[in-house]
Amino acid sequence: MAPRPTVVSLAARRLGAGTPPGLAARLGALPLSRTAAPRRSRGFPEPLSPSAAPARSYYKQRKAGTQDSAQHRYREAQDQNAWLVDGTQADASEGAPLRITHPESRHTLVLNRRSLRDACACERCVDPHSGQKTFGTTAIPAALPIESTQRLVDGSLRVVWARDFLSSGGPHQSTYPPSTIRSWFAGRREGAPRTPGLSLWNRREFEASPHTVTYEAWMSAGPDFHAALAQLRQFGLVFIDGVPHSEDSVVALASQIGNILETLYGRTWDVRSKPQAENVAYTSSFLGLHQDLLYTSRPPRLQFLHCLENTCDGGESIFSDAYAAAAVIKKLPYHAAPLYNFPIRYHYKKNGHSYEKLRPVFEKAGGVYWSPPFQTSDQPWEKSTEGDVSYSRWFQAAQEFRRRLEHETSVYERKLKPGQCVVFDNLRVLHGRRRFDTASGNRWLKGTYIADDVWKSKLYVLAEEIKAKFHQNDSATGPSKDTGGGSGSA
Ligand SMILES: [Zn+2]
Repeated sequence: MAPRPTVVSLAARRLGAGTPPGLAARLGALPLSRTAAPRRSRGFPEPLSPSAAPARSYYKQRKAGTQDSAQHRYREAQDQNAWLVDGTQADASEGAPLRITHPESRHTLVLNRRSLRDACACERCVDPHSGQKTFGTTAIPAALPIESTQRLVDGSLRVVWARDFLSSGGPHQSTYPPSTIRSWFAGRREGAPRTPGLSLWNRREFEASPHTVTYEAWMSAGPDFHAALAQLRQFGLVFIDGVPHSEDSVVALASQIGNILETLYGRTWDVRSKPQAENVAYTSSFLGLHQDLLYTSRPPRLQFLHCLENTCDGGESIFSDAYAAAAVIKKLPYHAAPLYNFPIRYHYKKNGHSYEKLRPVFEKAGGVYWSPPFQTSDQPWEKSTEGDVSYSRWFQAAQEFRRRLEHETSVYERKLKPGQCVVFDNLRVLHGRRRFDTASGNRWLKGTYIADDVWKSKLYVLAEEIKAKFHQNDSATGPSKDTGGGSGSA
């Protein structure tokens, strides 16, 4: 196996997501208007948790420099529990930090005294039933006298606080378990939710993935359901077969993930062609690849579309992995920059609604946004010489991005049959539909959404089960090993 360039694997590790080896290279084999060949990469910013990104980069800053090597030495240490607590600290000024040192790695942790008191997870400090803290951080007094500090045999740190504010002025004993201390030394968060990474795909790779599950399996919530969730996490697209012909089925299916997201379209909605449709989705014309509800602050994460009728000619559904296309464009700084910098305005203003939102095509936190039908006519480009140049650059880049999204090797196409339900990651996998002939029959899909947080919660709760079901082809190259999953697992 050829060694990977260090810089790439590092980036892949940082960014978390894995992609099958060669995918980027294959995508790169598409003709490019600019010639720089994209470097093969397994990494891709993963926008499962945009909110986690700032914290992550902050954390990275803090870790930069000498801390990194000390943490590295600690992780390699023979005995991670063999640290020493500086006993003299007990008598030091009542606000001074506590120091514990791991001699082997020559790493000293400076523990802010109030922050350490705040971290006590005993039954008096954290309610065992609700899991909620019983006091506010700012309620901790400035003076925090310590009676004693001690490393226990198992590697726990015990601190006895004198005259504690929570113990009616009596002593309060805090025990920080070995796993907590180790996580401090190693600079890793303890018990952070870990989800497996992503696989960027082209049509052929998607077709090779195990992308269909039966209704019974999905509803059973057993191993086959976990496998389907693994597919949904890894590829962002999965199909459910044998769904009962009922308008309620889509709710039953989505509820297996969690609470449904009600939007301006309701709890569920029907995709049927109708005259003077209020949404382009309700017409019979071609509907290009897009994402739903980008004009809202928190667009839905998962979309379920249950096919109840589809006797029309045409009306095939199309899907494309926007992350895969973006991964290639992001290797071309000339194209990537305007897609990061130029915001696009999306809107929905009908039937008493007025939604509007600006989003770049590429978000720094990892998000990729593409929804041409919902763009406004008044895009915020500058009417100046600079604006003319930057708009032209954006336009070129956007065209290149679209070409990759819509390339025949990228698009997975399938005509949904009654009894089939497609589930996809609306923030990653773009969807669209070929034109259909309303005279030739009926087409009726029923849909619903699941919010980002609900999907993440399910992923975290079932992380172990899902990881075990990861698509085997990738087990050697990333996702199942690389539990980082980018910011999604931070
Ligand atoms: Zn406590």
